[in-house]
Amino acid sequence: MLYQPLTVFESIMSESPLRTPAIPVTDPEAGLRLTEVFYSLQGEALTSGLPTIFVRLTGCPLRCVYCDTEYAFTGGERQSLESIIETTKRYPCKRICLTGGEPLAQPNAIELMKRLLADDYEISLETAGALTVENVPPAVSKVMDLKTPSSGEEDKNLWSNLNHLTQHDQIKFVIMNRKDYDWAKQKLFEHKLDKLVGTVWFSPMFNVADDIGEETSLDVPILARELAEWLLADALPVRFQLQLHKIIWADAKGK
Ligand code: SF4
Repeated sequence: MLYQPLTVFESIMSESPLRTPAIPVTDPEAGLRLTEVFYSLQGEALTSGLPTIFVRLTGCPLRCVYCDTEYAFTGGERQSLESIIETTKRYPCKRICLTGGEPLAQPNAIELMKRLLADDYEISLETAGALTVENVPPAVSKVMDLKTPSSGEEDKNLWSNLNHLTQHDQIKFVIMNRKDYDWAKQKLFEHKLDKLVGTVWFSPMFNVADDIGEETSLDVPILARELAEWLLADALPVRFQLQLHKIIWADAKGK
């Protein structure tokens, strides 16, 4: 089953924070449920290392086994689009990463992107690839996951999203083991992903708290090295990445 964003009234009480009573979520006046806004260095993809304002929206219909932002599944605070934009203006930066959770779970995310573009922000959108990206403004650079088998959410990949990607966009695979790598390699060739988007990223699953904290485990460094070696052996037209922010700040919230 594919998850779809709520488009009428949020009226069902459940674990989803998007489902608060009687809020017309497609009405721009209803704003967005927001987990946090913070300023940091971009930790991944093509703008890695650049100062960036992160706008993290609340809620996600997926439950990837490696998720590092579970705190964004629930809670948050509903804010008007104007209020969110005013907050972004406090930072000395015109680059925004809209992230989550899954930003597209709230339809008003589209309107927020339009308004930020009108204010001359450069925007990237981190999306899980389970909800349609059809209505995302073309000027926004989509960084779209394709969920690997080990994520536990492979069946949520909305493959028709590939029809809406261009050279301005990027695709990311989070690799947990050789099975994921082989799956991602097969999808790369099957869909000619390297021709479809500007960059395809292969990233080893990386959980600092478990893997390079005090209880050091060698699993992740080994996986990172293995992935690097698999990529070299196959000479795949993709780019390897580690998440910078995790190396610098571990899993600190707001970094
Ligand atoms: S899509 Fe992203 S935010 Fe949602 S569960 Fe997966 S990793 Fe977490």
